[in-house]
Amino acid sequence: MRKHIVAGNWKMNNSIQEGLELVKAIKANYAGNNQLIIGAPFLHLSMVNETLKGSNIAVAAQNCHHEESGAFTGEISTSMLASANIPYVIIGHSERREYNHETNAQLAAKVDLAIKYRLTPIFCCGESLDIREKEQHFNWITTQLKESVFHLTAENFAKIIIAYEPIWAIGTGVTASAEQAQEIHAHIRKEIVHQYDAAIADRTSILYGGSCKPNNAKELFANADVDGGLIGGASLNAHDFITIANSF
Ligand code: PEP
Repeated sequence: MRKHIVAGNWKMNNSIQEGLELVKAIKANYAGNNQLIIGAPFLHLSMVNETLKGSNIAVAAQNCHHEESGAFTGEISTSMLASANIPYVIIGHSERREYNHETNAQLAAKVDLAIKYRLTPIFCCGESLDIREKEQHFNWITTQLKESVFHLTAENFAKIIIAYEPIWAIGTGVTASAEQAQEIHAHIRKEIVHQYDAAIADRTSILYGGSCKPNNAKELFANADVDGGLIGGASLNAHDFITIANSF
């Protein structure tokens, strides 16, 4: 049985003090067994990791660089994250694709480096409204998978988590319907069967992201191929995040 996972993405929010309060509140009030992950800014990672010790909640970086080391001022490498014992890294979030012009090829390099340094990638894919309206969303997502993760060996592919995040639903308050989410998640799983095999596809956790909130998480998570969520705005509130985490 694959894991149920709820991952938060704080993005560029919370001071160190606010982050500490939030992570303490999540740790103190979450009593469930699902895997929770908190995607914190680089500056917060060690503090969050330290605070979460002794819980079943883990920390994730929100990005890593696609080169192993070198003259890349202001960047953070996967080996640095590994040296700080960070277990997860979000790769390919649509905001990074859009504002930092990250390409599928660069994301493939990031995924490789994450695996090399034993970090678990949470690989994000998803289409814009324009792509959906042109009914190209299935092909779009297949291409993202092919160009960034399907080069992995079966052994390494089995280590990653996928997050489907329709761009038109991120931070907009518009959520994909349960049917829309299930349809794409099933498509992703079918592509994994095609590329690898049914056993690997069955073990891959596929998360939904895009305005997932306490009032819609249950309906989204009830779908056969939705294994949890990647949560932006609602992860900034301990009560909302825990309510979503308890929505299976
Ligand atoms: C995200 O940024 O990954 C996200 C899903 O954001 P929100 O939940 O705020 O739509």
